[in-house]
Amino acid sequence: MNLTGKRVAVLGAGRSGRAAADLALHHGGDVVVYDAGPEEVFDGLRSLVRCHPLATEETGKACIADVVVISPGIETGGQFASSFAKGAGEFIGETEFASRYFDGLVIGITGTNGKTTTTELVQRMMEVGGKSCEACGNYGRPLSDVVIEANPPEAVSLELSSFQLETIRTFRPDVAVWLNFSPDHMDRYRSVDEYREAKLRIFKNQREDDAAVVRFGEEVGKVSASRISFSATESDADYALHGSEILCQGAKILDLGETRLRGLHNAENVMAALAAVEAVNIMPKAALAGLEEYAPPLHRCELVRTLDGVEYINDSKATNLHALEAAIRSQSRPTVLIAGGKEKGLDYTPLLPALEGRVSQIVVFGEIRSSLLDTFSPAVRTVNAESLKEAVQYAREASEPGGTVLFSPGTSSFDMFSGYEERGDTYRKIVHALK
Ligand code: ADP
Repeated sequence: MNLTGKRVAVLGAGRSGRAAADLALHHGGDVVVYDAGPEEVFDGLRSLVRCHPLATEETGKACIADVVVISPGIETGGQFASSFAKGAGEFIGETEFASRYFDGLVIGITGTNGKTTTTELVQRMMEVGGKSCEACGNYGRPLSDVVIEANPPEAVSLELSSFQLETIRTFRPDVAVWLNFSPDHMDRYRSVDEYREAKLRIFKNQREDDAAVVRFGEEVGKVSASRISFSATESDADYALHGSEILCQGAKILDLGETRLRGLHNAENVMAALAAVEAVNIMPKAALAGLEEYAPPLHRCELVRTLDGVEYINDSKATNLHALEAAIRSQSRPTVLIAGGKEKGLDYTPLLPALEGRVSQIVVFGEIRSSLLDTFSPAVRTVNAESLKEAVQYAREASEPGGTVLFSPGTSSFDMFSGYEERGDTYRKIVHALK
C-alpha cells in the first residue's frame, strides 16, 4: 500500500501508535498522530510526524484522512474513536495496517489465556526448525516495528488480543491459533458474546489452505481453514495428553516431564504450538528442540521460594477467572490461595468446584475482597487482608510443610499497582523478606 500523497491519522501516541506512524511515514504518508494527552506524551516521536495533543471528539469530527489507524488501547466504539471514523477513507487497527506490509508467514495466536507462553513457544520452534521468526504484536514489539525492518523475519508469531482483532479487515493469518475462551474484559465489552465475536475475527479471512488450530470442544462456528484440534482432557483431539505424554494422532511426540513446563494448561500451550508449526511444515522432532530449557515467562506460576517446606508461587499474570482456575487445577499439594485485586465485573462462583480438595484456605485482598469473601466463604475458609503483605502473612500462618502458597489474583491489579508485573514483583519481595 503506497501512501504517497495520502493523509494518515494515527490515534494514540503509545508504542503501537508510534510504530504505525513510523511505518506510514516510511511508505510516504502524510502522518498526524492524535492523542488526548498533553504534549509530553509525544516525546521522542520522529520529527517528521506531526502531533496533535489534547485531541477531543471535536478534533476527530474535523479530521479528514485517507486512513485512520487506531491503537489497541483506544476503545474502537468509544466516542473519541468514532468521531474520527466519520471522516476516514478507511478506519483500521495497527495490526491490520502493519500486516499489509508483510509477505512472510503469519501465525496468529489468540485466546483468553496462554497467548504469551504459546507465542514464545511458536517463535522458538520456528527458529530451531529453520525459519527466522519474531514474536510480536500484543507481545514484545508492535507488528509495525517488525515489518519496517530492512530484513524482516520469514515468519511472525503474532500474539493477538481481542482489541487488536476488533479492527482487522483483510488480515489473514496462515495459521490461526484459538487457545481457549472465557469471560474477561467485561469492563470494555458490553457482553461475553461481544468479546467472543471480537476474538473470532481471527478466522474471518482465512481460506481452505490455511490452518486453524482450535482447542477441542471450543465453539468457534464455521471456519474455512483446515482445522486441527488439541486438548489436555479429551482423548479424541488430534493432539491429546496421556499421562504426561503428548500424542499426535495416537503417536507419542513428547514427555512433558522432560520439560520445565507444568500443568494441564501448559500442556495445551505446547500442543497448540506444535500443531501450529507443523501446519507450516516444521516437523515435531525439530520443533521439540525449541522446548529445551524453555521456562514460562515470569509471573506465570513462577516458583519464588521454598520456605519451611512451603512453595510460594507467583502467578500475578492470572488476571481473570480462567487463569486462576488453571493455576488451582495445576496444584498437586495442599494449597493456600491469595486472590483479589480490581473489580472487573466477573462472577467467581464457577470456580467453586475447582477449590474442592485442593484449596484449604483463601486470603482475599484488594478492591474485590468483600465480594470474593462472600463467594468463597461458604465453600472454603476465607479471610480478609488489608494489604498484600498482610495476605502473605495470613497465608504463611495457614500453610503447612509440603503445601503451597499460590498467589493467583484472578483479576487485574490496577486498584493497587501499575500492572501485573509490579504486583508480582511486590509479592516476590514480600516472600523473599520472610524470615
Ligand atoms: P496471556 O498472554 O494470554 O495473558 P500468559 O501465557 O501470559 O497468557 O498466561 C496468563 C495466565 O494464564 C498465567 O496466569 C498462566 O499461568 C495462565 N495460563 C497460561 N496458559 C494457559 C492456558 N492454556 N489455559 C489457562 N490458563 C493459562
